[in-house]
Amino acid sequence: MVRGMAGSFQLMKSLNKSLILNVIRTEGPISRADIAKRTQLTAPTVTNIVGELLESGLVIESDLGVSSGGRKPILLRIHAQAFQVIGIDVGTQDIKLVLTNLDAEILDSLRVSMPAGLTGERLLALLAEAVRSIMDRNRLNKASVIGIGVGMHGLVNPAEGVSIYAPNLNLRNVPIRESLQTAFGLPVEVENDVRAMALGESWFGSGQNIDHFVCVNVGRGIGAGIIIDRKLFDGTTHTAGELGHITVDPAGPQCSCGNYGCLQALASGPAIAGRAKAELQRGRTSIIAELAGGDLDAVTGETVHAAALQGDALAIEVLQAAGRYLGIGIAAVINVLNPARVIIGGGVAKAGDFLLQAVNETVRNRALQTPAEAASITLSRLGDHATAIGAVTLVLKKLFAPDYAT
Ligand SMILES: [Zn+2]
Repeated sequence: MVRGMAGSFQLMKSLNKSLILNVIRTEGPISRADIAKRTQLTAPTVTNIVGELLESGLVIESDLGVSSGGRKPILLRIHAQAFQVIGIDVGTQDIKLVLTNLDAEILDSLRVSMPAGLTGERLLALLAEAVRSIMDRNRLNKASVIGIGVGMHGLVNPAEGVSIYAPNLNLRNVPIRESLQTAFGLPVEVENDVRAMALGESWFGSGQNIDHFVCVNVGRGIGAGIIIDRKLFDGTTHTAGELGHITVDPAGPQCSCGNYGCLQALASGPAIAGRAKAELQRGRTSIIAELAGGDLDAVTGETVHAAALQGDALAIEVLQAAGRYLGIGIAAVINVLNPARVIIGGGVAKAGDFLLQAVNETVRNRALQTPAEAASITLSRLGDHATAIGAVTLVLKKLFAPDYAT
């Protein structure tokens, strides 16, 4: 029988406990003696705290280690399978949920379409229904659920757990944390979707063990999550990483923000579709029109990608152009932040094979040589669930690595 998570969070309100728990998470299976060495805590302190962690069920004793003379030490590890986390990705077109264990391994997932004319209240009701549904069908005991993480598109105040402004849904001031916390009595963490994704990449994806990296989400919009010294960089008003709104062509098309020639207006999914559509209207022949059923308004970024996969010249050209604009934006990021890696995720990243070469060429031509050579540009390995895994990570971070312990 595991004890309730409210109790376990209480338990973590000690710096030493967080410290030990995180050493077991990152280095386990590990012996009590090695924990003492790593944390520089005394052996009796480690023994006491490990006792409490064993009792909470979060930590278990695993195999015996190698003896350095004398009897073999008992090793400790996190009991990842005994607890679950729910991660939610609130996008512009759907809500994706994942249920994971403490290693962020997906046990179940659920997708709900976003209805038209959504209000804040309806969104909160949809989120609660979806959480209840995934809990019910997995017969979850609430005591074993660590918490609920939410990655929400748009401007988010993570300290308050409020969606301040979601431009594509036209919603303002939606109190996501308060609502879900009241409904389920579980800890709830809320963050901007791209920043959640970057945190997920840092713990479980292509950003593992990298001090400084940037995760770029390319979908309906373009945004970036910035990890500096292994920590998420938030900015003064929680808006750091708005890469989609840097100007890459002053004479370019108008962006949703009002400016002209923003990266988002030139390399996002809708921008890719728009460029293909304009070329088709000019009379270019391409299978894109056919794939869209002859209706040019039905052309999407996905249609263009599908055509590119069939070798369509226009589709490939349009994706490469988007890749070059993306490369201009990424070159700026590389010059300013000097990251070791840039991870590209989001819907448009599915066309990564067509984009990546143009991105790399542009970065080589435009970024300074030293930082450009130090930065590898890769596609996210977390795929469609990258943001939901990021949302799970928000909860895990609170448990294993609260800021005061790092
Ligand atoms: Zn803009």
